[in-house]
Amino acid sequence: AAKDAGRDQFQLHSLALDEAMQTEAGTRALLEQALQENRLVLYYQPVVSSAGAVIGVEALIRLQHPERGLLPPAAFFSALDHPRLARSIGRFVLNAALHQAALWQEAGHPLRVSVNISTRHLLDARFLEDLQEMLAKYPGLRPELVEIEITESAPLRDMPEAQRLLVACHRLGVRVALDDFGTGNASLTYLQQLPADSIKIDQSFVRDVIDDPKDLAIVTAVITASRMLGMNVIAEGVETADHVDLLVKTGCNHLQGYFFSKPIPAEDVPAWVAHFRPAPRTKDSLHPLNI
Ligand code: C2E
Ligand code: MG
Ligand code: MG
Ligand code: MG
Repeated sequence: AAKDAGRDQFQLHSLALDEAMQTEAGTRALLEQALQENRLVLYYQPVVSSAGAVIGVEALIRLQHPERGLLPPAAFFSALDHPRLARSIGRFVLNAALHQAALWQEAGHPLRVSVNISTRHLLDARFLEDLQEMLAKYPGLRPELVEIEITESAPLRDMPEAQRLLVACHRLGVRVALDDFGTGNASLTYLQQLPADSIKIDQSFVRDVIDDPKDLAIVTAVITASRMLGMNVIAEGVETADHVDLLVKTGCNHLQGYFFSKPIPAEDVPAWVAHFRPAPRTKDSLHPLNI
């Protein structure tokens, strides 16, 4: 359709990668080409509970570059949210993540898989169709094993519409998380108005939570409000045992970060889950052994 509308004016291979990544059009070409050539890959990062259970995994996109190897989304951020690409990428990621979740479920180790959905794709008129189509494609997959993480790319101007969409996701049995909580334009409004099962506290608040009383105050307030609203709270960017201690003590019930595991390839996930054993609790906390 609108596929070749002025795209090929950009010949990526004729540019150095660094040069390409400096322009929006270059980044877009990089991502578009990777999508066409099937060089987008999902890695999966475990999420664990404060009680030491594995809650699920978050699907995180990477781009396999012929010369540079795996590129993280930071290398093509602006393109992920391009009006013409947000939906194609979202469809690719939904398909790949739900397929993987169905395979894990069939293999006897069901795992919840969280998928990052940009608000641009969420607000696309075809988002619900896309989600339904992918769920129908993997009919054995229990929908409650699927969670969408709403990442604010475009502001959610139309709050009633966003509410309607998230309610519709719940009707399909899919769970909803608000990602990067605290960084958007209207976080408290989102908490108040959007029906979500979980919120994810952005790692920028977690990083210095041990030493910075302001960060601790914010994290504590967010945890308290969310728990009172009956939501799960996931701390992102949990890197140390001290993070775990403090966050669990503050009431955070789910944790995600390098302390437990970096994002790993799909084939490594079952073994990671099988070997994850929180050590006996010391200081109100949990420590991973085999990772
Ligand atoms: P996010 O959804 O908030 O994902 C968490 C990011 O934090 C991931 O970065 C993860 O690798 C990183 N991370 C996890 N634990 C730690 C830690 O302990 N320390 C530090 N410093 N970082 C940690 P990643 O994979 O580079 O993804 C970055 C962002 O790109 C994601 O943030 C998300 O907003 C976006 N993204 C990733 N995959 C997708 C996707 O499939 N679709 C869309 N639309 N966006 C995606
Ligand atoms: Mg996320
Ligand atoms: Mg996040
Ligand atoms: Mg984040």
